[in-house]
Amino acid sequence: MSHAPRLTFDIGAPGLSTGHLVVAGGTDCETLSLPVFSLNKGRGPRLLITGGNHGNELEGPIVARRLAEWLPDAQTCGKIIIVPEINPLAVRAWTRNTPVDGKNLNREFPGRADGSVTERIAHTISHLLLPEVDTVFDLHSFGPTWDFPPAVITHPIADADLMRKTVKMAEAFKLPITLIWEHDDTPGMFDTWVHEQGKLFICAELGGSTVGAEALAIYETGLRNALIALGLVEGKAEYPNFRHQKSAQTLETLLSDQVKSPVAGIFEPRCSIFDQIKQGDVIGVLHPMDSLRYRPVEVLAPTTALVCGISSGMHVEAGTEVVMLARPYTV
Ligand SMILES: [Zn+2]
Repeated sequence: MSHAPRLTFDIGAPGLSTGHLVVAGGTDCETLSLPVFSLNKGRGPRLLITGGNHGNELEGPIVARRLAEWLPDAQTCGKIIIVPEINPLAVRAWTRNTPVDGKNLNREFPGRADGSVTERIAHTISHLLLPEVDTVFDLHSFGPTWDFPPAVITHPIADADLMRKTVKMAEAFKLPITLIWEHDDTPGMFDTWVHEQGKLFICAELGGSTVGAEALAIYETGLRNALIALGLVEGKAEYPNFRHQKSAQTLETLLSDQVKSPVAGIFEPRCSIFDQIKQGDVIGVLHPMDSLRYRPVEVLAPTTALVCGISSGMHVEAGTEVVMLARPYTV
């Protein structure tokens, strides 16, 4: 049985109102009801905050719920819509993609009304929430296999003016890294769809490994800084404390900065994030585990750069990215 996508409440009502965003059911899945917090304080910026786009990145849903607790008192103007979990099926399964149809929600925008459940989620957000806002903060993290510093990222945007505004907004989070990330898999991204409408889209990527108190505190501080920069909250922005430092740098990573595993096996890193490495340095070793003729394979730095991320939490196939390099971003 199918119902049209809809909101169960008046999202424009003054003050705090709550209800559900209903994603229509289909042959693959029953109707989904996503909890929504809507905060209206009159004229001003209009912001959508989403978490749980990928189901194994749990910092976003947690921090979004935390924001929903203190924002009703702190917000001074404008409109903020919070949807802590836009893909509850993936979050329940603790998977990146939706288990029902195997699709990556972040490659399905703007979605389809008559598509599979992931496409229907994208379509519902695109049509019922995006028209309400000018800016989107989508809260991701690097998941359990990566060591990655707290970062705000954007992919290069063809529209130079939107790119400049996006980098400025990203830097306002004051997280340790603002990363301009060249990517070859952008069609269907939430980012791309929002950018095509000339709106600001910020993707926060918070560290890897397990969900930790330090990471959550950094994430929340970063979001508060961004809300101050937008003018939605009063206060003084502050750099979060990360590994005993309060600092921020803007970097870019190119497709050629992806260091990939030469063979299948287990990756042993020989570098740490923020290490400065030189071309030819041994930055890790790949251990093929399926042969008695055990011979570790050295992984060499392809270029002189900064280590930005390390993936060592899983057995990898040949060609899997194991280290991400970056360099200072210059406009
Ligand atoms: Zn993600």
